[in-house]
Amino acid sequence: MAHMNRRRWLESMGIAALASALPNASLPGQLKSPEGSGKRRLDISEFQPKSMLHVPETKVSRSRYSVIDVHTHLSIRANSVHGVGLGEKMEFLATPESILPTMDRKNIKMMVNLTGGSGKGLEEAIQKFQQPHPDRFLTFTEPSWDHSNQPGYSKFQADEIERAHKAGAHGLKVLKTLGLYLRENVTEGRLVKIDDPRFDAMWDACGALGMPVAIHVSDPEAFFLPTDRFNERFEELNNHPDWSFQDHDFPSNAEIMEARNRVFARHPKTQFIVLHVGNNAENLPYVSECMDRFPNMTVEMGARLGELGRQPRMSRRFFEKYQDRILFGTDAIPNGTDTPQQVFVDQLYEIYYRFLETEDEYFDYAPSLVPPQGRWRIYGIGLPEEILKKVYYGNAARLLNLKV
Ligand SMILES: [Zn+2]
Repeated sequence: MAHMNRRRWLESMGIAALASALPNASLPGQLKSPEGSGKRRLDISEFQPKSMLHVPETKVSRSRYSVIDVHTHLSIRANSVHGVGLGEKMEFLATPESILPTMDRKNIKMMVNLTGGSGKGLEEAIQKFQQPHPDRFLTFTEPSWDHSNQPGYSKFQADEIERAHKAGAHGLKVLKTLGLYLRENVTEGRLVKIDDPRFDAMWDACGALGMPVAIHVSDPEAFFLPTDRFNERFEELNNHPDWSFQDHDFPSNAEIMEARNRVFARHPKTQFIVLHVGNNAENLPYVSECMDRFPNMTVEMGARLGELGRQPRMSRRFFEKYQDRILFGTDAIPNGTDTPQQVFVDQLYEIYYRFLETEDEYFDYAPSLVPPQGRWRIYGIGLPEEILKKVYYGNAARLLNLKV
């Protein structure tokens, strides 16, 4: 595209800063500048349109039934290099006292802290949350990535799972580290595939111990495409350039999904909670196909209201068809202001409840001035009581072996 055209186009989109960065020497059409045309410029990041739609607004302060939030992050590994969490040292993002009041107000019976770490870190995470409040907090463990390039890792990791189970872990969490960050030499070398056989003993150990595996692989489809004017997540990727997997040696989204599916097929006795609506909320037909192929697959809905809520009819059919295999989760992070779709505040839960319980139209999917995961709004799917009960707590209680 010629500079002139590109500059005009950027200006018309309001990306003034980018447009003015282009060299002026190649711009012969100065007289037709926006200043001359009387049109105003507006930086897209400053655009905060208010909806003029007059439609009912339902405030859902408390969920109709008690909630088990199966996807939260109350602790994280303190050290990570190139996206790989290392060591046992933990960083704690909250105390029980700081979050129990919100939980009580919002009718959250229990929160599952997925990123509980391993070894001493896991013990500490359990001591801080689960031990004093066993009916309010559960903890999952994580693989010891720093050992993954050592001989005997396979057995070591399987034994670690057993030790974690004895220490009180209820499941295993696998971050998108696997498939996108973990390399042959942990942080360097070739990317390790999700279905690498060194993890087979780990998946099997989880199955044998009845510990579900909460797995996040890949990311939104748009994160694998160039961050350009055609990308529906442009602003988000522009704010977080490290979320783009478009170049370097990253595999495609489809390759990652297929490798993951081979793991599900190879370990039918292991239960997989596939986070973020099967990591493909934009493509519910594909998620449905996977659900039909793999009876050991359950999905969770955290940080994907933006996707589910912009296709309310398709979503409603998905919730009806798979009502026994969908879990409530938010991906909540205390003080996570950097990602408003995940910040642990009252409003976040009110939005989830409104989406699930009402047929309200065109509302924000995150507590934020601008929709953070694409500039659109969402529609509620008004689930019936029987499905709400299953999604809010029934399915999770069954999978996690809890008495309700
Ligand atoms: Zn998460």
